[in-house]
Amino acid sequence: MFIKQYINCEICPHKCKVNRLEGKIGRCKCNDKIKIALASIHMYEEPCISGKNGSGTVFFSNCNMNCKFCQNYEISQESKGYEIEIEDLAKIFLDLQNKGVNNINLVTPTTYVYQIIEAIRIAKGEGLEIPIIYNSNAYERVETLKDLKRVYRCLFTRFKVLF
Ligand code: SF4
Repeated sequence: MFIKQYINCEICPHKCKVNRLEGKIGRCKCNDKIKIALASIHMYEEPCISGKNGSGTVFFSNCNMNCKFCQNYEISQESKGYEIEIEDLAKIFLDLQNKGVNNINLVTPTTYVYQIIEAIRIAKGEGLEIPIIYNSNAYERVETLKDLKRVYRCLFTRFKVLF
């Protein structure tokens, strides 16, 4: 899928200006493919998030921070994970919802935000209703968050976005 924000990537404050659509990578090491390490029911997020049924967590590979002490170092810094298409991500959201989780929990979503928006759009069309948690490292550009919020407000009025 063509995502114009990836031509000259300024999605996060690093503003690498690389063309991810041509396979170039910036500080986060992400190209134009979604890469995830794990999608599962997480029972041990904060109690208000996991609750009794668990949180439908998707751990995205790579990160726009390069912390040496990251508890998910293999995922965030060594790119462990596998590539999926936007449609696959939408299916993951729906599968997690079907398992009865309280929410979809996007862990380190920043660098993939525009693909995630498309995946949510697809999943919403196929019945995704539970809240979405944007569980980021907080190294975000305000402009990107405004894009996210604008789309959520327009298309997903029943979704709750937690920043
Ligand atoms: S998302 Fe990645 S490529 Fe884009 S500006 Fe941030 S670190 Fe650079």
